[in-house]
Amino acid sequence: MWKWLGAIMLIFILSVPFALRLRAAKSLPDCGFVQNTYGERVSWKNEGLITLYVHESVPREYYGAIQSAAATWEKSIGHRLFRLVMEPLVGTFVPHQDGKNIIYFMNTWEANRPTEQARTSIYWNGDQIVEADIRVNSKDFQFYWASGQFNPLKVNFEALILHEMGHVLGLRHKDNAGSVMATFLPSGTDRVRLASADASNLRCEYKL
Ligand SMILES: [Zn+2]
Repeated sequence: MWKWLGAIMLIFILSVPFALRLRAAKSLPDCGFVQNTYGERVSWKNEGLITLYVHESVPREYYGAIQSAAATWEKSIGHRLFRLVMEPLVGTFVPHQDGKNIIYFMNTWEANRPTEQARTSIYWNGDQIVEADIRVNSKDFQFYWASGQFNPLKVNFEALILHEMGHVLGLRHKDNAGSVMATFLPSGTDRVRLASADASNLRCEYKL
């Protein structure tokens, strides 16, 4: 019996540093992705299409902007990433972890965060994203979309949702190289094309 116990102890002692080494080896490079506590990139890992719902609070005039932004990410990788459900989702107005990825227009927003245009929450298990929700701040911001609607005081909705979809995919902020993942999107900025850095980062996790 003591022999057995010793064997078990030995396996335990050997396996811990080995597991840590494996984790460390997987941590580089980050490719602009959010990383878990082990330094691993978190993403959807090409596990089928990401189903994204549109809550009934999203005005229909912006559906085209959502489709266009999804297509921009997909074109850069050469295959589909999203399954957009454009039949508005009727129901609770409170974003929470419910197993569905949903875009909401919020007419209430924290009073101490009036400069935040939108917020994407992602949830993951290990290095696998399992859910993402996008809140758009329609209390403090007005939006425009499509050529001819340019307004220097409003936010280009396609540019905004392109950025938030980058967060859905697992990307974090990147404040150089003309990235669409720059922290701030000034009003009246038609930033609807990916920088080459965005496309190459995406390939680290979504290349088939
Ligand atoms: Zn952001």
